[in-house]
Amino acid sequence: MSGELILVIEDNEKNMKLVRDLLQYQGYGILETDTAEKGLLLAGEHLPALILMDIGLPGISGFEALKRLRASSATAGIPVIAVTASVMTQDHEKIAAAGFDGYQRKPIDIDEFLEAVRSTLERSGGERSTE
Ligand code: MN
Repeated sequence: MSGELILVIEDNEKNMKLVRDLLQYQGYGILETDTAEKGLLLAGEHLPALILMDIGLPGISGFEALKRLRASSATAGIPVIAVTASVMTQDHEKIAAAGFDGYQRKPIDIDEFLEAVRSTLERSGGERSTE
């Protein structure tokens, strides 16, 4: 289903533009911010269907932001996909261990990225929809 609201937390303008263009073209609603601090506020206020989280951010990191989302009952159930340029196996394992719902590498592979968004929304929306 399109039209779902996705929160994008990303401090790199080029990446934000690419993600925005891709998601808007697919018909998703989008909320955007360049820090995790502002992202946490937006998440609590709007309860998006999905969060795309950069890891390297100017204030608190994507890891810390995920912890805080999970610690709040209002946002604990929102799926969060990490989006990061990190390619080290160790970092990948750290991301998986942190409890992210998925992981997308930058530069973004468009087909893989959109499929991850679609399938994550489908999985989490399953209980709300009979389609
Ligand atoms: Mn970044």
